[in-house]
Amino acid sequence: MKPPDIPKDFCVVPTAEVEEGTLWVCADATNRRDSIEASCASCGSKVFHRPYAPEKTRKVCIACALTLMEEAEAAGSPFTPAVTTETAAELEAQKKGN
Ligand SMILES: [Zn+2]
Repeated sequence: MKPPDIPKDFCVVPTAEVEEGTLWVCADATNRRDSIEASCASCGSKVFHRPYAPEKTRKVCIACALTLMEEAEAAGSPFTPAVTTETAAELEAQKKGN
């Protein structure tokens, strides 16, 4: 399965610059042996995140992330979607078949 392209309106940020409480959307990590299991901060369902996800982030499942994004947009303060440099590098490596 090909990894998804990073949407053009996403910015890439270094993990060190991720702010406290940032929503960390947990997706597509279950198939990696070094992924870490956590609970969705919103619904409590089981999620998996990459080991470099900062502890200060709120891990959420995709369904909750979409709901929260819709709510924030409806409230007039939409999220700025971003990916970290590590995530971007992993996606690139997957595309090259590494
Ligand atoms: Zn959830």
